[in-house]
Amino acid sequence: MLLGCIADDFTGATDLANKLTRQGLHCVQYNGIPAAGGSEPDAEGAVIALKTRSIPAEEAVAQSLAALEWLRARGCRKLVFKYCSTFDSTDAGNIGPVAEALLAALESDFTIACPAAPENGRTVYQGHLFVGDRLLSETGMRHHPLNPMTDSDLVRVLQRQSRGRVGLIPQAAVARGPEAVAARVDELRAGGTALAIADALCEADLETLARATETLPLITGGSGLAVGLPAILRDRGELSPIPPLPRPPGDAPAAVLSGSCSEATNRQVAEMRRHHPSHRLDPAALAEGDAAVEAALAWALDTLGEEPVLIYSTADPETLARVQRDLGPERAGRLVERALGRIAAGLVEAGVRRLVVAGGETSGAVVTALGIRRLAIGPEIAPGVPWTVSLDDEPLALALKSGNFGGPDFFTRAFEVLS
Ligand code: ADP
Repeated sequence: MLLGCIADDFTGATDLANKLTRQGLHCVQYNGIPAAGGSEPDAEGAVIALKTRSIPAEEAVAQSLAALEWLRARGCRKLVFKYCSTFDSTDAGNIGPVAEALLAALESDFTIACPAAPENGRTVYQGHLFVGDRLLSETGMRHHPLNPMTDSDLVRVLQRQSRGRVGLIPQAAVARGPEAVAARVDELRAGGTALAIADALCEADLETLARATETLPLITGGSGLAVGLPAILRDRGELSPIPPLPRPPGDAPAAVLSGSCSEATNRQVAEMRRHHPSHRLDPAALAEGDAAVEAALAWALDTLGEEPVLIYSTADPETLARVQRDLGPERAGRLVERALGRIAAGLVEAGVRRLVVAGGETSGAVVTALGIRRLAIGPEIAPGVPWTVSLDDEPLALALKSGNFGGPDFFTRAFEVLS
């Protein structure tokens, strides 16, 4: 294995695995730290999805070190620590503590931190993070419930959560190319700086950074920074063609489970309902007991065939507000997630092998309920949303869509892409 990645959340891991695969690197996504000593697919890259963004720093460090150990045992020479492109963290961590712990474990004295994702409007200039034309601290991120981002100066932000000194690789150096960046890195290292925020305004800047840091064992940042790595490995002749993905048969039973209430998902559900059998889950009925889950499953088992079926709790804003008022938002959310998780398990047991899930939290609940540990990345349905295939048992194709992604025909398009 050439490249090992540790991501601090699930959808970030999929985003990274998808981008690496698109660049020609054969990689597998692991949900959580894989068991030691198991037999693993012969991939060139691994992305380990942790859930360490908002947990206490010591726990995030311990889990990240365990992930590192697993990756190194498989021969990974290059490590990526992936976090959010809005640098989601607090003064307590976890970007600084995890990066420093990984550096120490790798016996390295320096790494860069660059969350830039220019294609999504995230750029870093003079160490300041912009979202579009706004400083990070002037966006909705300042009200984030877990990690409000009220300071856009990432050198300052990272310094507050790190032990060592934090420096800057300014755009002026990045624009001059890999040698200029390497010279700046030497300068920072000589002065005892261990972590440096790197400016990046465009994809070319990220490529320059990837080239300039080629010999560092660890780099940290958003998924954009890692995109340049497959090209480096290819130039060295180290990449082989991606083997064909195991796929379930094109006529295997198929279903869509939708727990997202986003505008985009509401449109997608409305569109799918016009052409396919559908069943609505009512949170009020779920609150009464298990009968509603059993009824949904019984309906699905009667209806399943070649044509995909839809089970959804997706609701428009007024309906959602009413349910949340009656049940409380957390309870309603938990009831729906648990129900969709159990329905997913029932469907797979009944032979469903093509499954689309809408909603970030919903996807987490479904993947957990199905006990899925390893995913390979397949064809892309919409920007940033690939099919994945579970590698644990008989191939199960899963498309995990976070709320706002995809056009109105996303669900039907997904099945077309797969066949
Ligand atoms: P998104 O990616 O659109 O944010 P998520 O799955 O992350 O979607 O979040 C949607 C949340 O709303 C989940 O916790 C889900 O259980 C909950 N939910 C779904 N349908 C309903 C509903 N009808 N009433 C109340 N809560 C719901």
